Amino acid sequence: MTLDGTNTWVLRAPGAEFATVIDPGPLDEGHLARIAALGPVQFILITHGHFDHAEGAARLSELLGGVHVLAADAAHSVGAGPLDRDEWLGGSGLEIQVVDTPGHTADSVCFLVECGDERVLFSGDTILGRGTTVVAYPDGDLGSYIRSLRTLSAYENVPLLPGHGPALSDCGAAARAYLTHREERLAQVRAAVAAGAENAEAVVDVVYPDIDPAIRFAAAASAQAQLEYLRRESQGAPEELDPL
Ligand SMILES: [Zn+2]
Repeated sequence: MTLDGTNTWVLRAPGAEFATVIDPGPLDEGHLARIAALGPVQFILITHGHFDHAEGAARLSELLGGVHVLAADAAHSVGAGPLDRDEWLGGSGLEIQVVDTPGHTADSVCFLVECGDERVLFSGDTILGRGTTVVAYPDGDLGSYIRSLRTLSAYENVPLLPGHGPALSDCGAAARAYLTHREERLAQVRAAVAAGAENAEAVVDVVYPDIDPAIRFAAAASAQAQLEYLRRESQGAPEELDPL
């Protein structure tokens, strides 16, 4: 499920002493020691709490002498309160905006980093460098995810550096491609339900007939998130009631 490994990003403005780390990755001493060697670090940022992004954060903080870990979920923060969604963080020549993008998980955020005239968006697992993101019920929420993709579609021509896979040149274009993919999948799930599929397993049989048994659980969790989305849509649940 970690695809080809997690990207850890170490940012340092030209001439600045302190670096910023995004997503230290799993608890892998060798990897964490290599990041620590790139210090000093002003703070460690977490895009979301999945272990392949956040598990090594507390240990890296320790290796760096107690550098704060900033995450939207207090459970993954160290030495500081949780990040405010949409807050700005400054220092060491970088301006960093927390962009509120729940959906892949409830605690997912992106980071828009500005340095001089340059802007780059760090997307965690909200948009990947290749393939699509799993929105798995119940931690993932498809309604929130679609709203987050709409938010990211506004970052026209902003380079995107994801949690997995290669960099992309245009965050806005990537977000729109993801929205199209989600709409196509939802149309397939609606059709499967109309044809009598009553639960996630039945939807998987119709929508992913040739699925590898090893990843069937992920497809079922994704189908469950889609059914939950369609159920709320059919009930006309007002958006304001969505806790995210
Ligand atoms: Zn994740």
